[in-house]
Amino acid sequence: MRRFSPIGDVLWRKTAPPSEFKEVLSGHREAEICIVGGGFCGLHTALNLAKEGRSVILLEAEEIGFGGSGRNAGHCTPTFHHYSLNSIRRLLGEKRGEKLIQLQLNAADRIADIVHEHNIDCEWVQNGYVMAAPTPGNLSALQSKVDSYNAAGQSTYLADAEEVRKLTGMKGQFGGWVHPGGAHLNPMGLSRGLAMAARRHGAGLFVRSRVTEARRTGRKWKVSTTEGSVIAKRVIYTTGAYTQAAWPKLDKSFRIMRVMVGATKPLPDAIDVLPENVTAHDGRGNIFVYKRDAFGRIVASMFPRLFGGREKMLRLLTRRLQYHHPSLPADIEWDCLWTGELDMQPLTIPRLYHLEEGAVAVTGLSGRGVPTGYTVGQVLSDWARDMPHNDLALPIEPLRRTPLYMSFGPQLALRGYEMRDRFSEWRSGQKMRP
Ligand SMILES: Cc1cc2nc3c(=O)[nH]c(=O)nc-3n(C[C@H](O)[C@H](O)[C@H](O)COP(=O)(O)OP(=O)(O)OC[C@H]3O[C@@H](n4cnc5c(N)ncnc54)[C@H](O)[C@@H]3O)c2cc1C
Repeated sequence: MRRFSPIGDVLWRKTAPPSEFKEVLSGHREAEICIVGGGFCGLHTALNLAKEGRSVILLEAEEIGFGGSGRNAGHCTPTFHHYSLNSIRRLLGEKRGEKLIQLQLNAADRIADIVHEHNIDCEWVQNGYVMAAPTPGNLSALQSKVDSYNAAGQSTYLADAEEVRKLTGMKGQFGGWVHPGGAHLNPMGLSRGLAMAARRHGAGLFVRSRVTEARRTGRKWKVSTTEGSVIAKRVIYTTGAYTQAAWPKLDKSFRIMRVMVGATKPLPDAIDVLPENVTAHDGRGNIFVYKRDAFGRIVASMFPRLFGGREKMLRLLTRRLQYHHPSLPADIEWDCLWTGELDMQPLTIPRLYHLEEGAVAVTGLSGRGVPTGYTVGQVLSDWARDMPHNDLALPIEPLRRTPLYMSFGPQLALRGYEMRDRFSEWRSGQKMRP
């Protein structure tokens, strides 16, 4: 079995309201829809369908939010991280592309609605997102973002260096893209809150209930766990990077890439880091994104180097943070550091797979899963409502193995981005950044 990063180190598990989910599936149950996986994709789907009065059972192998959903860095940036909006339209076709774009671009606002409607305690803050321009050469790419996102209905803008400093406290930037819709949160709080909301609407949720197989029996599915089973008309797999033997070869539809997240000890409000409580992205290839949690910790995420343990990771995070905020002490104290897994595949937008009649799976979110989990939840709910496949915001494809190069491609691309950053810094006559 694949080994995942330990969840015990994750800050959110300690700071989110405790989980109320203890029940393990035993014996036999029936539902219309059985969802496998208790992350954002599965939970949004369960909540939507349960709210409509559909009978839903969700099975989670470990605990609610065990996967990326409970251990991410807590940035909710309603954008696409790799593609421009026009590339999405080209990739999916005008109609489907536009549908996906509208879901994704409005995801943070819709999650805010869900948080308020269900009174979810998850440190939700929607004060905006700032992607900085570390060299003057970055500004034209950021202006294109302003143009395309605003043409799609958003109200973003290009800020000058002084405004970026005021919003983020970051020194030495040349401006930045400000997206007022960006938010941040405690992701385990959101996961547990979505689960509670789904349960209040009648969904059955079971933890420590790993699905071992699903078999078609007549017109229905029998979904088995080690101690019980669910008979359902439809099965939806949302097991992501944390897939455990759920469906043959589902875990081959992506490759793993590790991300690290560090949280400092709580710092006083007076410190010049994120005075406006926005989410900040330093605009570099190996993205460094950070925010403050409800207790004043700085929570920062980045891709770690291939080799090197805890000390090396913390050094990397410290150097980046101090470069942007020289007033921070040289020995920043870190409260916790954890890593987690992303399900990478070449397209980077989620992939919806047809498994057999009445059974689908989504994997390959490739990061940005806080808004994307909401988006996928809408697509899966539409599928469960029998929406014609051509009208779904994601195409349904046969399950396929991701190419082998995805084992090393994203790492190589990262090194390529770092070299591009170095070259831009050198060309614009700047000091090399850490
Ligand atoms: C360290 C880290 C930092 C990140 N930071 C951010 C960020 O700041 N912002 C952002 O938008 N995105 C971020 N992401 C990405 C985001 O968290 C993920 O893309 C998203 O949470 C994936 O959601 P999911 O529902 O697809 O899968 P998951 O949340 O991984 O859920 C899948 C669930 O399925 C369960 N499961 C697996 N197999 C079985 C089985 N056989 N039976 C039953 N259950 C099973 C797993 O236990 C797991 O709980 C980050 C990811 C990581 C790892």
